[in-house]
Amino acid sequence: MILAVSITQNPSPLSNGYCGRFAPSPTGPLHAGSLVAALGSWLDARKNGGQWLLRIEDVDSPRCARGADQDILRQLLACGLRWDGEVSWQSRHQERYQAALETLNTLQCLYPCTCSRQTIASALAAQGTQTPRNQEQVYPATCRPTPLQINDLSASLGQQVAWRLALPHDCVVNFDDIRLGAQQQKLNTSVGDFVLRRSDGLFTYQLAVVVDDAEQGVSHVVRGEDLLSNTARQIHLQELLGYSRPQYLHLPLVLDEKGEKLSKQTWATSIQTADAKQALKELQRAAKHLGLSGLPDGQDTSIAEYLLAATQSWGNR
Ligand code: GLU
Ligand code: ZN
Repeated sequence: MILAVSITQNPSPLSNGYCGRFAPSPTGPLHAGSLVAALGSWLDARKNGGQWLLRIEDVDSPRCARGADQDILRQLLACGLRWDGEVSWQSRHQERYQAALETLNTLQCLYPCTCSRQTIASALAAQGTQTPRNQEQVYPATCRPTPLQINDLSASLGQQVAWRLALPHDCVVNFDDIRLGAQQQKLNTSVGDFVLRRSDGLFTYQLAVVVDDAEQGVSHVVRGEDLLSNTARQIHLQELLGYSRPQYLHLPLVLDEKGEKLSKQTWATSIQTADAKQALKELQRAAKHLGLSGLPDGQDTSIAEYLLAATQSWGNR
């Protein structure tokens, strides 16, 4: 059901420069965790009188589920979370990412890599480095040439090479998170030279998100804490590409009763938004998770009223 009246209709023209966004990957419909990110970023934008954009992050096409983008749009509308302007689809913006790759190439910080996961694991083992399970391998720079040079990117088209970003020595990124405070990541020891374009030709999330946030003028990135460890990489890319740095707010993860990250079963099940009552319940659950209090907890509130109360409560947390 789509609400006839919503407090987000006809947003006033932007005056204060706040631009937020929600950027789901359409690997499935919205679940409890992604609704928290949607609601948190929407509330922050509305509270600040800013815009809220919707970007479907479908660069990793093999992981996308058919129709999931439309499900997400429908679920957001059912929850009264209206976006400003046109929806943006990353799969339609390949030229932007290619142009950014070309720019980085002229800065002599790209190199081709043909390593498989297995080659990387063997190289790390030979160095005596063990990567704990569930942790990313820190790329040991096997393919990195010295000195670095400008490459002919078009000559490699059709070849199975990945393009990695060569990090400077001691690449330490410091940033502030609005909720979590001062953050620091040493990219060389925690990530290593990372991939911007994969050997199958697809651009990676790290590059696409940075280019799009800059292209769309995003000033505030409000998203789940599971993405915190990507932020330093994104800031480093912004600096190389001459983009300005948005403000970051990473929202608390949805955990189960044992305090553990929700399993696939509980975490990834779709939220229920077939009717307004169900959608309200989902919003109530997400708002509670965001630490909002004093909101109507019954079923006799309209979604528009609920979102208005939540917007007033946001920021007073
Ligand atoms: N597309 C990413 C995801 O759904 C989120 C990107 C972001 O908010 O930076 O996990
Ligand atoms: Zn390699």
